[in-house]
Amino acid sequence: MSYLTHLECSLCGKEYEADSLQTLCPDCARPLLARYDLEAARAAGRDALVSDEPSMWRYRPLLPVRDAAYAVSLGEGFTPLLHAVRLGETLGMPNLYIKDESLNPTGSFKARGLAMAISRAQELGVTEVVIPSAGNAAGAMSAYAARAGLKAHVYMPADVPMPFRQECRALGAEVTLVEGLITDCGREARKEAEKHGWFDISTLKEPYRLEGKKTMGYELAEQFGWELPDVVIYPTGGGTGLIGMWKAFEEMEALGWIGDHRPRMVTVQAAGCAPIPRAFQAGAEFADPWEGAQTVAAGLRVPAAVGDFLILRALRESGGTAVAVSDDALMAAQMRIGRYEGIFACPEGGATLAALEMLLEQGWLSPDERVVLFNTGTGLKYPGVFDYLDA
Ligand SMILES: *Cc1c(COP(=O)(O)O)cnc(C)c1O
Repeated sequence: MSYLTHLECSLCGKEYEADSLQTLCPDCARPLLARYDLEAARAAGRDALVSDEPSMWRYRPLLPVRDAAYAVSLGEGFTPLLHAVRLGETLGMPNLYIKDESLNPTGSFKARGLAMAISRAQELGVTEVVIPSAGNAAGAMSAYAARAGLKAHVYMPADVPMPFRQECRALGAEVTLVEGLITDCGREARKEAEKHGWFDISTLKEPYRLEGKKTMGYELAEQFGWELPDVVIYPTGGGTGLIGMWKAFEEMEALGWIGDHRPRMVTVQAAGCAPIPRAFQAGAEFADPWEGAQTVAAGLRVPAAVGDFLILRALRESGGTAVAVSDDALMAAQMRIGRYEGIFACPEGGATLAALEMLLEQGWLSPDERVVLFNTGTGLKYPGVFDYLDA
């Protein structure tokens, strides 16, 4: 069913057993990565391993859930990869694509990671879960916990847009609002988790959200006919999606499903919270925490990421880059995605177009390259952003 073999620390390489609950590496406090018997999977062949299920579960043998009975699904993944013809024309780019993650259950790509983490947690005996979240992750966790019959506890910044809070409550989670940022929520969640024995589903603190997010990499390859694009522009918060796609590319090459061509990976963050661009430009291996983080793009308001070195490594190995864009620029770009492509993007999705325009102007990419923008969620959950349109 699954070729999962063990877990491996992303920093020190130490190996751990996969069939008991694991969090960060006990030695270096960095994320553990799921490893598979890719040689055996390679021998089985792609046709035998990729099913026609219209969700991320089509790659099930390369996912960590062992018993299908524990796979909790609301139909996440296998989202459309749309050729952005009209938007591309305005930029002179004939090969521009948008991977539209807003069609996922609960309206964002967080569904992929949380479906996987909840499935695996349930398989390993967890009954209560907790998450600190700036919004979309909390909604997704609430949904999958409800569907699996687990009790969900959510810690959110008090100023998170209302739809995020209401969604979690409507999905049966216990919601606690915390004055401060996601990092403050994390502290509070950890304290309560220890006290009550809840399992912490924070970004990269358990190994399986990453395995859900990596399916975006598998889908990109499959949807382009088992070829990868030239450039991927990704709105980066904790970085799971970017790290996950990079892992997927490695796995697929080891499986013999793709060659060694890799997209240049681009991180975009908001100018009001840009720890990764700052570290990238400085040539640093890790990113210092950002002080006073502020942006309307809630998913990008992550001042410190536990997987910072994995993001920076993927950017550098791919020949990519990291850029910051202003809130004004990302909101204006969000509007253009709507006007030209009929996609009501989230502000984070808008940021990818703002970054593309900047990189095009700088000559960092050429107009004929095949470029994929990730619209990571729906614009419907950010009511304040377009208030001016009613004025
Ligand atoms: C969480 C989130 C992001 C950032 O995703 P990471 O994989 O954690 O970097 C981007 N956009 C939206 C809409 C999000 O909810």
